[in-house]
Amino acid sequence: MAKSTKNLRFRMTKQQEAINKRMREEIKLQRRKQLWQKRRSPIKGIGLFATLPIRAGTPIIEFKGRVIPWEEGAIMLLRGANHVIKFDAKHDMDARPQWSPAGYVNHGCYPNCAIKKKRGGLWLTSIRPIEQGEELLIDYDFDLGEEFEPCRCGHPRCRGLMLRRKDWPKLRKLMSKVL
Ligand SMILES: [Zn+2]
Repeated sequence: MAKSTKNLRFRMTKQQEAINKRMREEIKLQRRKQLWQKRRSPIKGIGLFATLPIRAGTPIIEFKGRVIPWEEGAIMLLRGANHVIKFDAKHDMDARPQWSPAGYVNHGCYPNCAIKKKRGGLWLTSIRPIEQGEELLIDYDFDLGEEFEPCRCGHPRCRGLMLRRKDWPKLRKLMSKVL
């Protein structure tokens, strides 16, 4: 009996430690100066911009929204939505900007950010060092079955369409049949 009580206390302490660690991280993130700012983008509509130089691998802002079955996400994408992101193997997240300004992030063919999982959430995360004032961009990675749009990211090697690289040969094949 005494032994099991001791074990229980040990487990709770461990749990408490984990909670404390999470809280400390949370406070650190909250106290940190906001790394992003939203404003009109030369690429499209409203975009997100770095307010400070950002190191590679920094979580910048969390995506928030409804977690939905991937089938529902696929239908939304077909109807032209561009704020649906992959959550896990079976779910998407409808991450429209009304729930988090992260949803404003624009597409770029050579992006400086990607969406990464952190503490159960999805974060816009830098994948290379970013200069102050640079627009934060991710690769939307739309596939051929989805509603993809022309790209105006302005990169010298812009692909011209928000279509993922591996679907280009398929598109060329389709085009050669049509033309
Ligand atoms: Zn582009």
